[in-house]
Amino acid sequence: MALFGISISMWLVGVIGLSLYIVLYVISITIYGKKPGRNPFVLPSLLVKKPERTADDVINNQSARDSVLRQNFTGSRIPERLDAIVIGSGIGGLTAATLLARARKRVLVLEQHDVIGGCCHTFVDKGYEFDVGIHYIGEMRPGSFVRCLADQLTDGKLMWQPLDVDFDRVIVGCVDGGGKNRSVLVTGDRKEFAKRLAQEWPDDAAGIEAFFSLLDRLKRGSKLYWGLKLLPLPLARLLIKSGLCGLFSAYFRYLHISLKQYLDQHISSESLKSTLAYCFGDYGTPPGETSVVLHALLLNHFLRQGGFYPIGGPSEISFCSVPVIEKAGGRALVRAPVSSIVCNETTGRAVGVTVQRSRIPRTLTDCQLRSGHGAMSVFIGLRLPPGRCASTDPAFDDIRGRNLWLLSPSDSSAAETVDLQSIVNAYLSLDPQEAAAADPPLLFASFPSLKDPSWPRRRGDDRLTCAIVTFANWDWFSQYQEGRSGHRGRDYNELKNAIGRRMWELVKCQVPAVADLEVELFQVGTPLTNQHYINSPRGEIYGLDHSLSRLAPDSCAQLRPEMGPPGLLLTGQDVAICGFVGGMMGGLLCASAALNRNLIADLAKLIQADAKGILRRERPKAE
Ligand SMILES: Cc1cc2nc3c(=O)[nH]c(=O)nc-3n(C[C@H](O)[C@H](O)[C@H](O)COP(=O)(O)OP(=O)(O)OC[C@H]3O[C@@H](n4cnc5c(N)ncnc54)[C@H](O)[C@@H]3O)c2cc1C
Repeated sequence: MALFGISISMWLVGVIGLSLYIVLYVISITIYGKKPGRNPFVLPSLLVKKPERTADDVINNQSARDSVLRQNFTGSRIPERLDAIVIGSGIGGLTAATLLARARKRVLVLEQHDVIGGCCHTFVDKGYEFDVGIHYIGEMRPGSFVRCLADQLTDGKLMWQPLDVDFDRVIVGCVDGGGKNRSVLVTGDRKEFAKRLAQEWPDDAAGIEAFFSLLDRLKRGSKLYWGLKLLPLPLARLLIKSGLCGLFSAYFRYLHISLKQYLDQHISSESLKSTLAYCFGDYGTPPGETSVVLHALLLNHFLRQGGFYPIGGPSEISFCSVPVIEKAGGRALVRAPVSSIVCNETTGRAVGVTVQRSRIPRTLTDCQLRSGHGAMSVFIGLRLPPGRCASTDPAFDDIRGRNLWLLSPSDSSAAETVDLQSIVNAYLSLDPQEAAAADPPLLFASFPSLKDPSWPRRRGDDRLTCAIVTFANWDWFSQYQEGRSGHRGRDYNELKNAIGRRMWELVKCQVPAVADLEVELFQVGTPLTNQHYINSPRGEIYGLDHSLSRLAPDSCAQLRPEMGPPGLLLTGQDVAICGFVGGMMGGLLCASAALNRNLIADLAKLIQADAKGILRRERPKAE
């Protein structure tokens, strides 16, 4: 007899083994267990400053910002008696560092770039400010787990602006290239989104219903996925091997099914499949290579509360969290590339780092792990004619607080007949000259200045920014990697500008309101740009690829902070999942390992108690 394809005898072995393991584990913890560190969390209601901050409170003074975010590495700035060193200041590093600081640890953050923030940093050129790696984030409603964690990191100072209720527009095919194009607004109300899809593709109504009910089922199982990373590795593996994970959660039963496989089975229209898969650009692995579960995780992230944007731009994230680190005696220093980890010769324990002033070689040390795809980014600064104000001009209502996703933007008939995976594969296999002349098959376009209520005061209401992102093949640019940033030669510039100009043309076709504005700034970034500012080996933007093998339960359990020698812990998106929230979760797991306590449970308990008002009058022990 078999249950879920697993024989009863295997089950018995699994259950007996598991029980034995738990007993031994509890005994060993009781006898030898490390004492847990301090709970770092502050009662959420105590973080919220009264009166509430508003967009006018964002500090605009550049030297005030630089004095926090651009402190150069020098020997004299290294604090005495450090408890921890964090390498890299992306959201993963900052989360780990601030949580340790809240647990009264003195932390030094070392960043190779000239500004703190990793993918959350911004840059300013000709008065236009651009975010490089944060366009929108889900689940940021007050009281949510994710929001409470972000509040803890930033002392409750970071403010979030909800995007439009219809936060994404997906357009499949082109406006006037012949054939029909499809345009759907994605909303934070998933029932409404499902209804809109069924209206546009009535023949696939049953498949749409099945897809959304799967999203609901997978939403419930995600806790166990994170739990695997907190359990001791052998116990996590036992749960996986015994099949118990699959028994308790649909999450594990669907992990090995690719998004494409699922859609091919349930949906007939290619343009609908593309629409349902539209945001795979958010994690960078095409539908045939990734799991339907990861895609569901992302859709569930956005389809319940919509999208949010940090008021003041993403650099506010690091600007508000560095003071938390400093308050505990720590520092966050830039131009500090770490070239090696120093280990104690006898114990093998990591005890320090070497900082090398020149740039360091970038390699993936574990060849079993593949890096994800690289990307092209276009940053455009647009000036409005005198008398027009971007924040109130109805011409921009359709792109205010909304992103655009263009799929097959130059070929409506292909969008109806060819699957997205084949279109992406065909594009990425072009040679550089062909790529320069081709239309990218997927574009993400966003207008960050129209998302941020502090923009008009900070940067001027007659300025508007546009950022466009698409996939790129690292090999198109690898021959230029030895050149210095900004000095890579004419061929490199011609290639990247040709691709960038085409991206802009395709966006202008869909957004006539920006087509006639004066272009004051036009900058194109390639995978080499990403390699430069976040030190990614092949210019990939989402760290490790999100393929089926990386997402498999065993890899999930294995990719955890404690992968290196004792004393060295990993953080960020690569031990969790890509994205701002994935990076934060990586930091939370890392701080959990460093403090030897389950911080996910700690924060959940605190939020619950705070919501019930149980703790309102007492301050937590950490304070
Ligand atoms: C174009 C783009 C758009 C994106 N859009 C979104 C979005 O809209 N929403 C969302 O949620 N996510 C988005 N993401 C993804 C998100 O930004 C990342 O997943 C997340 O920020 C990664 O955080 P991290 O801390 O793991 O890594 P990173 O932010 O990459 O930080 C790593 C840091 O470590 C530093 N470093 C590396 N090696 C060394 C060394 N040896 N010494 C010192 N420092 C070192 C790097 O310079 C870098 O600052 C986007 C990413 C990109 C690139």
